[in-house]
Amino acid sequence: MKQPGDILLISCYELGHQPLGLASPLGFLKAAGYPAAGIDAAAEKIPSSFVSSAKFIGIAVPMHTAMCIGVEISKHIRAINPDAHLCFYGLYASLNADYLLASVADSVIGGEYEQPLLSLVQSFEAGDSVPQRLRTRPHAATPFLKRLSFAVPYRNGLPRLTQYAHLDAEGTTVPAGYVEASRGCLHTCLHCPITPVYKGRFFVVPADVVLADICQMVDMGAQHITFGDPDFLNGPGHTLEIARGLHSAFPKVTFDI
Ligand code: SF4
Repeated sequence: MKQPGDILLISCYELGHQPLGLASPLGFLKAAGYPAAGIDAAAEKIPSSFVSSAKFIGIAVPMHTAMCIGVEISKHIRAINPDAHLCFYGLYASLNADYLLASVADSVIGGEYEQPLLSLVQSFEAGDSVPQRLRTRPHAATPFLKRLSFAVPYRNGLPRLTQYAHLDAEGTTVPAGYVEASRGCLHTCLHCPITPVYKGRFFVVPADVVLADICQMVDMGAQHITFGDPDFLNGPGHTLEIARGLHSAFPKVTFDI
């Protein structure tokens, strides 16, 4: 699993943002010594050579559109490389676990997915069985809802920010970056896909990790940051600290929530 090409992560759709669903798990994998590759299918072609050589392929499905596209992509993956372990991760992996496992997926990871995804990769490398807390075809499991020890997202090698949604304001267009200061939500609105997964819980991403990610995106050209938290005001003290840190470090960088 530590050879280049062994691990491939694919993002399908993240509302026009450079995908955090790639950058965040890539950060965990890189920190643990796994040279994983990430491809954003919304912005670039998936090289068939990447698919054919991979032993583990993860597909990020943070929203419904991404899952629909991911299922179609997974059919092509299966045709090229039927032996790769195919894992769907993110919010809609849990919500559609029965369907995914009955059709295309070998495993699904919902909730705070990065550490379980890393554990899954490590179990393959060690030749161990799949960790108990993961859901596979023969084994049921609930979404993983524990606080993680976060790594700074890894964005090297992803398509440039200029290929993604920009901010149009006051006659100028500037590149924008996307981060999340928290995941899940304190509220339990019945129409919301977060409720059945997080059940009224939310988890903060440490301020130093979020600010380091913002810093690297400003270095990449971002002049605006979108906070994509389900509810930015779930933890007002936490998010205020990050907003102040952003403004202190980059007074001209704007943000939206
Ligand atoms: S994210 Fe919004 S819609 Fe969903 S539970 Fe929280 S407040 Fe409700």
